[in-house]
Amino acid sequence: MITGKARRPTVIFLSSDGIELRSIDPVFEYGNYHGAYAFTKYLLDTYRDFFVKYNARAVVVGPAALSTYNGALVSIDVNPIKGEFRLGAEDFAARGGPGTALAMGHNVVGLVAGGTHKARYAKVNDMEFINKLMIESFKKPFRQVMDEKTIKYRFDPSMGTGGTFGVNYPHYRELLPLFGYKSIYLPREVRIQHVEAILRLFWKPFNDEVFVRSKSWYNCGDFGCSVVCKKVWHGKKVDYEPFHAMGPFIGNYIFEEAVPLVDLIDQYA
Ligand code: SF4
Repeated sequence: MITGKARRPTVIFLSSDGIELRSIDPVFEYGNYHGAYAFTKYLLDTYRDFFVKYNARAVVVGPAALSTYNGALVSIDVNPIKGEFRLGAEDFAARGGPGTALAMGHNVVGLVAGGTHKARYAKVNDMEFINKLMIESFKKPFRQVMDEKTIKYRFDPSMGTGGTFGVNYPHYRELLPLFGYKSIYLPREVRIQHVEAILRLFWKPFNDEVFVRSKSWYNCGDFGCSVVCKKVWHGKKVDYEPFHAMGPFIGNYIFEEAVPLVDLIDQYA
């Protein structure tokens, strides 16, 4: 829990050896990176020893946290030894503007955490115990239950796609909200025409690349998780919500044109 407000912009370094507060101004232009990506790379390069020693990962705010009420927190997984980002392993927490709360409420612009702390309740990591519970409740081993319950996020063979982006378009079809929700006033036949164009122009290029050609699915950094829900199109992680917001929701049906817009918003966090 974070209480109080720092006098200067601060990054909190947490490890199994303790907690340290360092005054660090956010850096939103660094190398070829911008916004939250620049700040993460700056922290990784500048405090590399910490990242390596504790196998650490950063959570940072972006420029939006300093000027809007809905700034996100961004955590990009890194390879500390190589000093590189891990492809697709980018996580955003944005509901309720936690980046703004952290930056404006506490003057904390980042957290860097790692180390060898064990889970507080050891049973959460006890696979034998978890398997036993699953067999009691579902009559199936954990891995099989996990694969079945997360089929949407991994790959649904009945739909030939997976992930939120892959599944939501063919699933929701004419119920998709378009044009800033004004589509609710369009007759159903017109909404069907729109969704057919969206599936052809917006969904198919993604699906052909990610599920047919390159099978570019990644993990968020929780390497025990088999869901590999991060679907990556030419280096860009694709989720339904940001792509829909920068795509059909604003009347853009060209997938490739949504990519730089989502990139920009991700950078601003
Ligand atoms: S890879 Fe697994 S743990 Fe990570 S976000 Fe996806 S479902 Fe969650």
